[in-house]
Amino acid sequence: MLIETFIRKQLRLKAHTVTKVEETDEHMVVHIDRLGKRLLRCGVCRHRCLEVHDIRKEREWRDLSMRKLPLKLRYCPRRLECPRCGVRVEDFPWAEPWARVTSALANAVAKLARELSWQGTARQYGLNWKSVATIVKRAVAYGLKNRSRPPVHVIGIDEVSRRKGQVYLTVVYDLERRVLLWVGNDRTEEAVRPFFTEELGRRRCNTLQVICMDMWAPYANLVKQYAPKAQILFDRFHIVKHLNEAVEEVRRSEMRRLTEKEKVGLKRTRWLVLKNPWNLSDDQKERLSTLVKWNTAIVRAYYLKEAFQLFWDYQQPKRAKDHLEKWMRSAMRSKLEPFKKFVRMLRNHLDGILAWTKYRLSSGAVEGMNNKIKSISHRSFGFRTVEHFIAAIYHCCARLPLPVER
Ligand SMILES: [Zn+2]
Repeated sequence: MLIETFIRKQLRLKAHTVTKVEETDEHMVVHIDRLGKRLLRCGVCRHRCLEVHDIRKEREWRDLSMRKLPLKLRYCPRRLECPRCGVRVEDFPWAEPWARVTSALANAVAKLARELSWQGTARQYGLNWKSVATIVKRAVAYGLKNRSRPPVHVIGIDEVSRRKGQVYLTVVYDLERRVLLWVGNDRTEEAVRPFFTEELGRRRCNTLQVICMDMWAPYANLVKQYAPKAQILFDRFHIVKHLNEAVEEVRRSEMRRLTEKEKVGLKRTRWLVLKNPWNLSDDQKERLSTLVKWNTAIVRAYYLKEAFQLFWDYQQPKRAKDHLEKWMRSAMRSKLEPFKKFVRMLRNHLDGILAWTKYRLSSGAVEGMNNKIKSISHRSFGFRTVEHFIAAIYHCCARLPLPVER
């Protein structure tokens, strides 16, 4: 088979043909022309048009490589007289209207950009970073327009930070399907409102049953306004995070209070209290007793934390509530300011915390995806704008369909 025929078949050309293939040291150049008087399609509405208005100057498209040689397609586009649209550039079976790469290359690049950084992807295909950015943004726009939108019942709303907490985004996950639904630029109530009004709309808001979020999140009003029947659940992942922060705060302030000599004794004791006593060596036991003797505040904090965690195991709402009430009273008596603060936070959000016993929703999915977003942020020193970052998040986490190659 001739190479021209082979490439024509690969590109699935019907109204076009390959006239010549030239090989240079760096490229294979594929010359394309119209096939006889075959009808061409309008680039806007894809209607078959009889009249060619004029022939434009030659354009070039990058295609996938053959072996090591990158393919370049060259063709003089026709402008057609479309009865519906007027004079329009024809539809190219191998590329999107304004793209400078073929659809096959664009999809290959988009797939790799889910695994690698945009720089890495660009290097792999011998493109520049900007071309990759354009391809990913187009793929995301296509994916958002064409993705399936089944009813959503359980969502998690969370924030992610970029540039060490200078920029915040809000991310919304479908916790049943474990997929990213939406990204908002900022973490304010106003920034998240479009998720309810635009992404979901009133009809789809009605199917929401449970909304997981952090206690500090400013989204509760939005839920009341747009999904009044949904239950707010302050999820385990965030509550435990606040609890750990309270422990850490106690530990730090105690360490500041201690003398140098005492600090040496306390070194590496952080995990000792978490171990079972019968697993400790004599040396470790001694260090633990030093800890208990010198630093009752830290020990109290650890025991409070352990006691709190029992809450997650209760099956009956009443028992879970009793446990929590008891725990909050003892935490208030503990004289540990960070814990008192934590209790006050719990008191203000009790209903959404107790909902755990009924729904037992794990936000493990959220945690995993937040880590994925963090890794996207780390590997991409090239995201100069938040728009690029948002596109990359959608691209990697929303399971969007890629454009179909014709
Ligand atoms: Zn048309």
